[in-house]
Amino acid sequence: MTLMPPFRCLRPATAAEAARLLADHPGAVPLAGGTDLLVNLRRGLGTPPALVDLGAIAGFAAIAEEGEGLRLGAGLTLADLAENPAIRARHPALANAALAVAGPTHRASATLGGNLCQDTRCVFYNQSEWWREGNNWCLKYRGSNCHVVPKNDRCYATYHGDVAPVLMVLGAEAEIVGPQGMRRQPVAGLFRESGADHLTLAPGDVLTAILLPPQAGWVAGYAKLRVRESVDFPLAGIACAVQRDGDRLAGLRMAITGTNSAPLAVVADLAGADWDDAAAQVLVAAIRKTANVLKTTSVGPKYRRRVLLAAARRLADDLWRQAAP
Ligand code: FAD
Ligand code: SF4
Repeated sequence: MTLMPPFRCLRPATAAEAARLLADHPGAVPLAGGTDLLVNLRRGLGTPPALVDLGAIAGFAAIAEEGEGLRLGAGLTLADLAENPAIRARHPALANAALAVAGPTHRASATLGGNLCQDTRCVFYNQSEWWREGNNWCLKYRGSNCHVVPKNDRCYATYHGDVAPVLMVLGAEAEIVGPQGMRRQPVAGLFRESGADHLTLAPGDVLTAILLPPQAGWVAGYAKLRVRESVDFPLAGIACAVQRDGDRLAGLRMAITGTNSAPLAVVADLAGADWDDAAAQVLVAAIRKTANVLKTTSVGPKYRRRVLLAAARRLADDLWRQAAP
């Protein structure tokens, strides 16, 4: 770890003011719980001139009913998210995904917004300054070569957030406040598959809330594979939601994380099918086609790919049983 670089710390009282400060200070970045950002800064990964601390924004951590759904403030800590009775009752998959992030002390500070907007990761990037310098840096920061995919068309660093895939299968929307005002969009639209530029947020944009629609008839779950159960990023993760009509699948939604540079929805056209081995093969084939597991972690891609497919089948089987009439 290196010393923290010098920066100004700005502490707005509203989301609009945060957006204005970010726009007025080119290179400034939002600071939420700091469990991702401050670790990276201590590794010399970035020297922003200013941090815009979102912690004083009024109502930023609130949970409220909105229509028939819930509005979750982006400043909600993952500990509060995981323990909230309404979330546990109505969206247990989301509570479980929040509970699976890092360790308890991280979750006490880590926020929903910071979890979604966390940086992508790679064994050649999440290293000390002298280690990265010894490897002549890399394309994601300060260098010109990718050590994982040497064709150098882009960075392939992996997105390892646990919460995003669950929000995607729940059909959640993101609320964003930027210099041009407020807008809402599906959570999947926050991301693009580019390891060095994986967020679609424009300079000045602040993620302010997540809108969760009601889940009538859907049963959802999240499966995470990691080296240490007590505290670790997902080597691979899968969220799935199932809607059952008697002995047929009425609906199936899936999203993966820990595999690509963004959390990705997996499309398997199984609506109306029986849930049997043939359907499971279709599901597994769709995941195999979408997941692009590379050598971005210390655990080999072959193992990560295999456990992802096995976990997906197991999760879908479980949800199918849970959704039984
Ligand atoms: P911060 O660190 O404050 O911010 C993260 C990024 O998001 C920054 O780039 C920041 O500018 C941006 N940002 C924050 N809030 C907003 C906002 N509202 N609008 C726009 N941009 C914003 N993560 C997992 O998902 N799963 C894990 O298992 C996991 N394990 C970890 C283990 C360790 C040891 C550590 C150190 C971290 C781990 N993390 C893990 C990463 C991190 O702790 C979590 O993702 C956490 O939720 C980040 O939230 P934060 O509030 O601390 O974000
Ligand atoms: Fe660097 Fe390549 Fe890893 Fe991206 S995928 S962080 S460019 S080594």
